[in-house]
Amino acid sequence: MPLPAFLTQRHGELHVEDVSLDALARAHGTPLFVYSKAAMLQALGAYQRGLAGRAHLICYAMKANSSLAILQTLVRAGCGLDIVSGGELERALAAGCAPERIIFSGVGKTRAEMRRALAVGIGCFNVESRAELAVLDEVARAAGRRARVSIRVNPDVDARTHPYISTGLKDNKFGIAHDEVIDTYRQAAACESLDVVGIDCHIGSQITQAGPYLDALERVLDLVEAIELTGTRLHHIDFGGGLGIDYHGDTPPAADELWAKLLQRLDVRGFGDRQIMIEPGRSIVGNAGVCLTEVLYQKPGEHKNFLIVDAAMNDLPRPAMYQAYHRIEPVRSRTDTTALTWDVVGPVCESGDWLGRDRELAVQPGDVLAVLSAGAYCMSMASNYNTRGRAAEVLVDGAQATVIRQRETAADQMRLETPLP
Ligand SMILES: *Cc1c(COP(=O)(O)O)cnc(C)c1O
Repeated sequence: MPLPAFLTQRHGELHVEDVSLDALARAHGTPLFVYSKAAMLQALGAYQRGLAGRAHLICYAMKANSSLAILQTLVRAGCGLDIVSGGELERALAAGCAPERIIFSGVGKTRAEMRRALAVGIGCFNVESRAELAVLDEVARAAGRRARVSIRVNPDVDARTHPYISTGLKDNKFGIAHDEVIDTYRQAAACESLDVVGIDCHIGSQITQAGPYLDALERVLDLVEAIELTGTRLHHIDFGGGLGIDYHGDTPPAADELWAKLLQRLDVRGFGDRQIMIEPGRSIVGNAGVCLTEVLYQKPGEHKNFLIVDAAMNDLPRPAMYQAYHRIEPVRSRTDTTALTWDVVGPVCESGDWLGRDRELAVQPGDVLAVLSAGAYCMSMASNYNTRGRAAEVLVDGAQATVIRQRETAADQMRLETPLP
């Protein structure tokens, strides 16, 4: 099976761009996340090509990976940012994102988060409920500011993905139900401190077909027509994120090809002049990262062979959370060991702590494995469960490797606690 872009096998050793992963593991220890700058920029480039010549703003959904150096890389390459919390707002600003290029998504924004976002002057609030509209209007009025808003609509389309990462169906918590949209826009237009500027949707994640996007587009444009009949003109249309990546033979459409199709429908329907916003996360960073982990022990059994490694569900939560598949490859191939079928598991005290099941691997203790496609929803979901320090991170650019996050120590983890006297 082909490797993700910028990951290559050279003389039996895996490299990210021009840097040997074995050398990085030796120099910085494991678990270690390693990202390719070129892979991120290439993934972003496909969107930029797809939207070239159109008024557009690509707001990278930073919850996928919010490390500062990653944000800086993408902001410097032209991205705005899609945030979902006050913490992400501070990170976005620290990474140098212009406030007007920040959009604020999420169903549970607090008043304090709204106040801060208004004070710095973010570009748009993606509002998810009628109750939130009322609170935002009140907070903006009290602050003597105006809030630009877009309303997240739920187009009720099936993204055909895992139920936990499907967000565009009627029965989930996201967005305004289709038949309440017009009334909600009326309510928004009547709010004295809100400027209604757009509409948005986000139908799910790891979407591997164009169909759900095309369905959502038609339904959103039906709504735009109906909303504009009430006298509110929408300046932008935001199609969210959700495009999938190849984890294990998945074949999502390329971003530029997907956008060629979507733009054609936008033009046919007469909305080609609107600013297009998108919020891609996984498809920008997912296949730009790997997680290196060292094999600690082999534990062969009657029915299962366990390979115990030093990365765990606290570093790579996706298998435990979504039964997700990540490819696992040795960073150096061995010819002196026969391959066996292993369940690759971490040291955490939970049966859910596995990284891969039934993997054919020729390995010995001390060898380093690369868990592939680990750029999105891994480090940003990492926890300290079992008082395990979060991993270090390295960004590779050509032959240069830069540590962008140090390994977290036990002292770091205890810093905010107050022991009893
Ligand atoms: C998570 C999220 C995204 C990004 O989704 P990806 O699948 O990572 O592209 C975009 N918009 C919203 C509102 C989200 O919640």
